[in-house]
Amino acid sequence: MSEEIRVRIAPSPSGNLHIGTARTALFNYLFAKKNNGKYVLRIEDTDLDRSSEAFKQNIFDSLKALGLSWDEGPDIGGPYGPYKQSQRFDIYPKYAQMLIDKGYAYECFCSNEDLEKEHEIAKEKKIPYKYSRKCLNLTKEEKDALKAKGIKPSIRFKVDAKELIFNDMVKGELKFDTNLIGDFAIMKSNGTPTYNFAVVIDDMLMKISHVIRGEDHISNTPKQILIYEALGAKVPQFGHLGMILAPDRSKLSKRHGATAVSDFIKQGYLTDALLNFVALLGWAPSDGNEIKNVDEIAADFRINEISSSNSIFEYEKLNWMNGQYIKKMDISKLTDLVLPFLKNYNTSIYSRKQLEHIIEVTREPVTLLSDFENDTYYFFNEPDYTEVDEIIKGDVAKIVLPKFLEQVQNYDFDNEEDIHDKLGELRSYFKENHSFKPKETMWAIRSALTGRTRGADMVATIQILGKDEANKRLKTAINYAQ
Ligand code: GLU
Repeated sequence: MSEEIRVRIAPSPSGNLHIGTARTALFNYLFAKKNNGKYVLRIEDTDLDRSSEAFKQNIFDSLKALGLSWDEGPDIGGPYGPYKQSQRFDIYPKYAQMLIDKGYAYECFCSNEDLEKEHEIAKEKKIPYKYSRKCLNLTKEEKDALKAKGIKPSIRFKVDAKELIFNDMVKGELKFDTNLIGDFAIMKSNGTPTYNFAVVIDDMLMKISHVIRGEDHISNTPKQILIYEALGAKVPQFGHLGMILAPDRSKLSKRHGATAVSDFIKQGYLTDALLNFVALLGWAPSDGNEIKNVDEIAADFRINEISSSNSIFEYEKLNWMNGQYIKKMDISKLTDLVLPFLKNYNTSIYSRKQLEHIIEVTREPVTLLSDFENDTYYFFNEPDYTEVDEIIKGDVAKIVLPKFLEQVQNYDFDNEEDIHDKLGELRSYFKENHSFKPKETMWAIRSALTGRTRGADMVATIQILGKDEANKRLKTAINYAQ
């Protein structure tokens, strides 16, 4: 029987879920889905000072909002828990001891000051730093004496010089000269594991078969492989994804725009659009059609076809894609998502059906859900005429508005076709009798009813506003022009 495919996403809760981590999560999720495997969430909170509950919650919420729910994780458990490293602190020391017993690791009593001095010397000599191995050959008596003084040792992995080769699923064959890696710490003197050690022990015990992560971890991989080998454990397959860069090719950061998934959501991005967009950072659909839901992406996804180069995070493209999703989304679902962005308005003046109608007729030019606040303004507020002052006070409006007011009394507001036809008649009437261009007639009407020169379809707008409101606004506009 072939080995079960098990992947994981292992964020550190030292910040809100980053969009880059969301992409890593998605690729792991897709790989698991494609191979009938399991996708595990592990919270890497060994750095207790930088980790927080709030960040952990943000990671959970953001992954769930994106639909990247896990098969095993801290909240739901699973066969290889606990899934939070801080709850696994009792697991790591025995594996460190095992490595000491086998001669792969040793205790190191160097203080931070000792190590800083070594760093400085290397810097002066302009050579890459490597631990001096001062503590490698301490005798038992020497170690006992240091311990008796109360000095707590860290534990270092002894790195032997060799050429280490592994086949990366994304980058192909990679070679490392381990001679360049100094003996590195696996346990800190306070008894907690370092990242490189905890990650190996956890991946090993959680039976992770494939490690798919950002290439910022690539320099850790040789160290991790050495630990697996020393433990006699099976080395997982690694796949390192190119980095996500800002349009100016620097590291994506807050100064370029949102970087946390929760901030994108707050700004009005749809999670489906976000997910679709991040999938394209490294992956390309075989049919060239970029708009795809997660199931379609999963069906077409091949990890060895992921581009190994960096991807540029183009906010403009994301905006475009978000707009495409807004245009196509089921109207009821879209209305649910838009309503929180209209919290400044009294939306209760309309029925649910009317609200859906408002969203339907305003969605065409919208990029972000937050745009709806401005674009639906005049449905919930009296129009502000400052922007259309000239039109309302102009010669066309002076003639069109009173006539329109008169005509509106006979509109059947339940019948879009009736409004449509009568508006058409009005345009023809002014064209024939006053030589007003149809556009000019409509501008006057739109300006009076909405305070704007552009917006939702006029027939729909008139219908949604209703007879009383249309009357009121037209009278206000006529008075305004006096
Ligand atoms: N905790 C690491 C991070 O957040 C990920 C570790 C890994 O994927 O190996 O960058």
